[in-house]
Amino acid sequence: MSATTIHLALVDDWELSGSGGGDPHALQFRPIRKLAKIYNKYGIRGSFNAEVMQQLAFRDFQNEHPELRTLADEWDETLQETFRQGHDIQLHTHPQWSSSEYQDGKWILKGDWSIVNYSSNEAWQMLSRGKEYLENLLRPLNSDYRCISYRAGSWCVAPSSFMLNLLADLGIMFDISIVGKLKYDTRRIKLDYSNCEEDFAPFYPTMTDARRVSNKIERIVCIPTNHFYGSRRLTLKHHLTKVVAKVKGGQSTTNGQAGGGYGSDWADTKHDSSLRRIYEKGVVPYLKGKHLISDLAQLDYPLMREMLSSIRRRARATGLANIPVVLSIHTKDIRVFDDIERFVSDISTAPDIKCVTLTEIARELQNGTFAIKTKS
Ligand SMILES: [Zn+2]
Repeated sequence: MSATTIHLALVDDWELSGSGGGDPHALQFRPIRKLAKIYNKYGIRGSFNAEVMQQLAFRDFQNEHPELRTLADEWDETLQETFRQGHDIQLHTHPQWSSSEYQDGKWILKGDWSIVNYSSNEAWQMLSRGKEYLENLLRPLNSDYRCISYRAGSWCVAPSSFMLNLLADLGIMFDISIVGKLKYDTRRIKLDYSNCEEDFAPFYPTMTDARRVSNKIERIVCIPTNHFYGSRRLTLKHHLTKVVAKVKGGQSTTNGQAGGGYGSDWADTKHDSSLRRIYEKGVVPYLKGKHLISDLAQLDYPLMREMLSSIRRRARATGLANIPVVLSIHTKDIRVFDDIERFVSDISTAPDIKCVTLTEIARELQNGTFAIKTKS
């Protein structure tokens, strides 16, 4: 049997921290240039999910606070520059920015973190404004540009009586918010993807619950963001390295922001000591499940290799000639670019891997390159 061709999309969520903190230069502008440079060096094209709610808030307050206009302009220029180099830009929204205040140089975000908790009308406003912003920004550079994919902030897309229909109404062809086996129960995020009916291949979702596979063709496709199970040895080793780095360097990372990646942003941190948080968000899940989101910013090189083995194993098991696989990155969390560069170097020459953008996946979906599952 010939190997399945894996159409691999490296999909970065490009944003400030979930609470609105951080310096856009350190968390966004510098690291996206660094990452794009790595992609360019190895001749691959990446995709960047621009978190637009943040940018809309900057624009809303720019008249009273001119420094926000400067940053918002640089945000635009950075995305245009990245797009000109051949990388894709797609839609990502964090609704907590929908109700925001800017005081003494700091953002106070009051909105709910999950878009499914808003009314259908409010969600429509956020999604359509975001899509319009990106299309207005990028169409002058390429008149064919369209928002065709979506990833929800904090992965929150299901269940929802309206989300998939709104996305389809907007012309979004596929959603990449589902991560198999992901489960959060924190003050800010409640999400349960532990029983998704499909967590690897593209599928037509039940329109009110993307965790379920529809029994017929629908107006939108779901392609899960990949997850895998790291070996106990590597995950624990990787985690301990992070803890040691944190103890040595306080809470700061090379990006100059609070460490911890997701989880620390989302957890109820009011009464948590830092060490307790490290233990609960880090050691416990690693020992219990070793479940990992395929997020290059959170993995070291050995874990990226394990991730790739898992993807190859699952791709071959489908018996299909072609399959799209979506990875994640969070530029704001990248600590070691060297590991990502090694990984990019590997995949750029792998005979069974084709690095693609989200727009290229949309085209192949239209061409019928990929089988899309329905419940048989
Ligand atoms: Zn995000």
